[in-house]
Order: sequence, then C-alpha cells, then structure tokens
Amino acid sequence: MKSKDIQNFQNTVLDWYKHNKREFLWRRETPEPFLTLVSEVMLQQTQTSRVAEKLPVFFEQFPTIFALAEASNADIIRAWKGMGYNNRALRLRDAARLIGERYNGQIPQSLDELLALPGIGRYTATALMSFSFKIDIAVVDVNIRRVYSRIFFKMETTASVAPEKEINEIADMIYPKNQSSEWHQAIMDIGALYCTARQPECKKCPLQIFCISAGAMIEYTSPKRAEPSYNGIPRRIWRGRTVELLRSASILTSESINHFLFGEFATQDDHKWIRQVLLTLEKDGIILQNENVVQLREN
Ligand code: SF4
Repeated sequence: MKSKDIQNFQNTVLDWYKHNKREFLWRRETPEPFLTLVSEVMLQQTQTSRVAEKLPVFFEQFPTIFALAEASNADIIRAWKGMGYNNRALRLRDAARLIGERYNGQIPQSLDELLALPGIGRYTATALMSFSFKIDIAVVDVNIRRVYSRIFFKMETTASVAPEKEINEIADMIYPKNQSSEWHQAIMDIGALYCTARQPECKKCPLQIFCISAGAMIEYTSPKRAEPSYNGIPRRIWRGRTVELLRSASILTSESINHFLFGEFATQDDHKWIRQVLLTLEKDGIILQNENVVQLREN
C-alpha cells in the first residue's frame, strides 16, 4: 500500500471502530492491568460470552494480585469451573505470585519482564502493554494474523495464513502511532464480526476495498490434529469430567471415578484409560494421587 492508502485504511478502521466496537467488561478506556491480565488469559481458549459471565465472579473471589497469589491449586481450579484448560489457571496464579514477590504486586510494563512470567506469551504481553499501559507496540494474535494475511497477501483458501515474519513486519508498520490500543481491538472486532476463520463476510466487510483476498478465497477447513481419545471422546473432555467430579467431591478413589464416569460395569479398558487421564492431570499439577486416593492438589 502507498502511504496515502495506508492513511485511508487506518482512518477507515478507526472510524468503523468508533461507531461499531463491541462492548466488553474488560474493554475500557484504560483497563486496569490486572483486569487485562486475567481477561486475556481467560480469552486464550474460552469464548467471550463465557469469559463475560465468569470474570465478575472471579474478581469477587480474587480482587487483587495478592489475593490470587494466595490461592491454592484447589481454590483456583474450583474458581476456573466452566472455563476448561485448567493449566492456564495454575500458571495465572503462579504469575500473580511472581508479580507479588518481584514487583510488589505491580504488573511490570516491559516486554522482557512480562514474557518471563508463567503462562504469558507474546500476545498477552503485548496486549497488556498496548491496552493497559498505552505503549506503542504491535499486537498479533491468531485473529489479527488472519485479517492481515487476507488484506495484504493473496490467500487461496480460508485456512491459509501468511508467514509469521511477514505478518510481523506488516504489524509493526501498519498500526497508527499513539493508537495501538484502539487499532488492535478494532482489527480483532473486524476479525470476529466479518473476517471469520471459516466463512468471511467480505460483502459486508468495511475493509473490502483494501483487501487483496476479498471474495476470492476457497472455503477450506484444515483437518484437526489428532488428539488422544477414548470411546470417540477427546482426552481433554475426560480430563474436564474428572476435574469436575473432584471439584464437588474433594477426595475420591480411582475406582469411584471410574464408577461415576462409566457406571457399575466399567471394563478393564475403561480403568486403564482413566489411569492415563489421572496421570496427565497429576503431571500438570492439577491433582494429587496417593495410593488409591485422588484429590485436587492444594499447592
Ligand atoms: S474483505 Fe473479506 S477477507 Fe478481506 S478483511 Fe474483509 S472479511 Fe476478511
């Protein structure tokens, strides 16, 4: 794009955002860093509607970094109910502990310090810097990468994305300086409302006139990576069911877990599968197994 077109593109994006942005609890003029940290970790693998429901309850229980730092494994996993991927919750609590110890409860503002915190990847770190600290920095998540790929590179199918290096170059160059926060949230909204992964709505998209791939992509869904499964149900669902049982019952035996999950006629294969599931949960620090007793890990 020529510089005049870039300016026109930026104005179109920001003007669209001014009138059409999505409203969320975590989207404020300058959101508290703790609010951004928790909401971004939740949003990593959970739908926005579920996060909107869970966030106020979470902050009631853990109103500060220090309160979160004190949470036991069992506390945080119970509080994470309904969100899935419990490891995220443990890493978030571990990050709160480090922020408490190293930075007296203040979330650091530099990229290196943020990246050194458990569970904080480049996207979450740059989102914090851009949204809460108003630092001029490029933010790239999977949605922004998809939108930039389609606008600036000719994508053959809806599953294609441009190479990371090229996207990062575009990302650094394209956002208007001093408006990193609004810009990136605008691109995310356009990605969620029009430029979706499977069926982009190019005809309605406000960026259609700037987009090289508009209306020209073949719809294609990449085959999902095979995940270990049992009885046709992926392991993460079995893990979720097991943690759910432990949330309400505190302590169980592996036999009783089998009984709850498979009924009284559980087979040897069922037992074997649940033993594997329990081992993965133990390895991730979510449960403790002592002889035959299973419980959520306290610390
Ligand atoms: S025109 Fe289509 S492909 Fe391009 S940004 Fe909009 S929705 Fe995405």
